[in-house]
Amino acid sequence: MEATTSSFLDTVLAQFDRAADRLNLEPGLRRVLRTCKRELTVNFPVRMDDGEIRIFTGYRVQHSQARGPAKGGIRYHPSVTLDEARALAILMTWKCAVMRLPFGGAKGAVACDPSRLSVGELERLTRRFTAELEPIIGPDSDIPAPDLGTGAREMAWMMDTYSMHRGYSIPAVVTGKPLEIGGSEGRAEATGHGVALCVAEVARRVGLPWPSISVAVQGFGNVGGVTARRLAAMGCRVVAVSDASGGVYRAAGLNVSALTRYVQEHGHVAGFPGGDQIDNATLLALDCDVLVPAAMERQIVRTNAAAVRARIIVEGANGPLDAEADRLLTERGVVIVPDVLANAGGVTVSYFEWVQDRESFFWGENEVYERLERVMLPAFDDVWRTAETHHTSLREAALLLAVDRVARAIRLRGIYP
Ligand code: NAD
Repeated sequence: MEATTSSFLDTVLAQFDRAADRLNLEPGLRRVLRTCKRELTVNFPVRMDDGEIRIFTGYRVQHSQARGPAKGGIRYHPSVTLDEARALAILMTWKCAVMRLPFGGAKGAVACDPSRLSVGELERLTRRFTAELEPIIGPDSDIPAPDLGTGAREMAWMMDTYSMHRGYSIPAVVTGKPLEIGGSEGRAEATGHGVALCVAEVARRVGLPWPSISVAVQGFGNVGGVTARRLAAMGCRVVAVSDASGGVYRAAGLNVSALTRYVQEHGHVAGFPGGDQIDNATLLALDCDVLVPAAMERQIVRTNAAAVRARIIVEGANGPLDAEADRLLTERGVVIVPDVLANAGGVTVSYFEWVQDRESFFWGENEVYERLERVMLPAFDDVWRTAETHHTSLREAALLLAVDRVARAIRLRGIYP
């Protein structure tokens, strides 16, 4: 890799180094795992609506394929870099390994602002980018999925482009597709569903009186919204919810169904009449049993970590705590269920989608959720036990497990030739 690395990549590599130290990983394996196996940068033209031809830059990084085909999302964002894609690819390797999914880690990105592109421009960009990635993606080698700025629509274009070039439909080349063309039941709700399972599991293990616990959820989008609805349905008291517009609080528990209807109608949480209006800083500092940050990265940092009063944090978002906040809160005894475990319901059901596509045999929603539990709960148990054995945080335990599993796979396969 290049000598100058971004701080995000530095953080991810530093986390790996700590796990490698504890595992006494041999130097050769460390070098293998600190390096991304395959990196493709493409500069490609797209014809814009006004006839102008613009060049876009995109990346696909495969960190590891030791445990199976590489798996990871495609991000459309103006400021993406190759280093960011590397860091995210490495994190995907760990996430798949923690969940025991037979996948390695990858990430792709195109530096663009999708909100400034027309649907036609987005489609041409996505199809051309897919064509550029064709030498390295495929259902047996590397399976993209949605990430920031992309969704089911982009996955449908990617699947169609890849299929057109081969002359027949290959739905298993991407996951997160619409149901009609090989998507999975439950995929859209899978991440929030998994977060709620982790809340239940950690509450039980810490000895809280399940389900009568109080929960605050930051973010009311795909992850936060589903998490809040699932927890309310399980009988928990969801005392506060927020989104970018602000938040609402009700000590006796919000009516989450009424809040969902309000958000569908008004587009935001602020102004919901069934609770007191609060801001995001207040939500993060609420005295509650469980805090679920499910909005975006770096919401709890050095400056506001001391204000957090929740006993448990379950990371719905990716990277909602920075390293300093993580250290401060862990020292204070706050139990933190890390993102690689807590929000891995999404990639787990992506794996189910890939399996169903390959078999052309589709499961009902209940079957998807049952199978999700059969993956999440043992993964939670593995992480919990590892933390107890090694006297570490759940985050460190998850990384120890993941790195050890990938390292074992590499040792068994050997170094070719
Ligand atoms: P989303 O866009 O559907 O929802 C994001 C929510 O956060 C919205 O309600 C938005 O208003 C809110 N928000 C934005 N800025 C905020 C702020 N400053 N304060 C409070 N709320 C704010 O996104 P999502 O799919 O729910 O993803 C949320 C997080 O979960 C991201 O970190 C994402 O990477 C991660 N994640 C998502 C999935 C998935 O399957 N969707 C899987 C794994 C991880």
